[in-house]
Amino acid sequence: MLRLILLGPPGAGKGTQAARICQKYSIPHISTGDIFRKHIKEGTEFGKKAKEYMNKGQLVPDDLVVEIAEARLIEEDCIHGFLLDGYPRTVVQAEKLDKFLSERNVSIDKVLDIKVDKEELMTRLIGRRVCRCCGATYHVINMPPEKEGICDVCTGELYQRSDDTAATVENRIEVYNALTVPLIEYYDKVGKVAHIDGSRKLDTVSSDIDAAIGDRE
Ligand code: ADP
Ligand code: ADP
Ligand code: ZN
Repeated sequence: MLRLILLGPPGAGKGTQAARICQKYSIPHISTGDIFRKHIKEGTEFGKKAKEYMNKGQLVPDDLVVEIAEARLIEEDCIHGFLLDGYPRTVVQAEKLDKFLSERNVSIDKVLDIKVDKEELMTRLIGRRVCRCCGATYHVINMPPEKEGICDVCTGELYQRSDDTAATVENRIEVYNALTVPLIEYYDKVGKVAHIDGSRKLDTVSSDIDAAIGDRE
């Protein structure tokens, strides 16, 4: 039983670490960003609304996000735990999540707060490439695929997300600082936060995360 939240600015390495954590602990990876991109790709009504906010680097309104997140959390694979990546992102979302979990007599075990400075975030986001087929994440310099533009895992085509541009990235980091950073204090009050220095090498960050998970009560 393991219920985790990953907090951290865009580009901190949440998705990259999430893939490792979820494989190791056999829990589902729930990324609201990934769910939204799927809606956009499929052209759903929600996708059309979400796209407008996402391309400007703004948050999708809480009521829409909460509905989508809760619909995912009631799926059967979440019964024995989950990793939330990119949810909650506002205090309102965190309060709704608390309510949702307490109604089911469960709670979050650990909140992993991954910190990386702004300059490094910009470099990571502008160089990020994602596989169109399987969602694997690469970086043109830090984590290049074996063959340029091609996914090592599934040979799918790599693309650059439309919100990974210099102007949008700057805005997303500001939105994170204003609306999501307060969640660190929110969860610190209940003693659930592990602070992780995400600026180091992938394996070093992973070891710290494992130690923090092992440390839960
Ligand atoms: P997030 O989900 O927090 O937005 P990602 O996991 O997509 O972040 O990582 C952002 C970019 O940084 C990706 O291109 C990824 O390959 C790269 N990256 C992730 N972790 C590290 C690390 N420890 N060192 C260097 N680059 C990293
Ligand atoms: P990153 O980790 O790089 O910030 P995500 O893939 O998590 O990117 O999110 C992409 C975009 O989707 C965000 O910039 C935001 O517009 C929207 N989004 C994702 N999760 C949420 C959320 N919990 N609340 C509001 N908007 C969200
Ligand atoms: Zn792939």
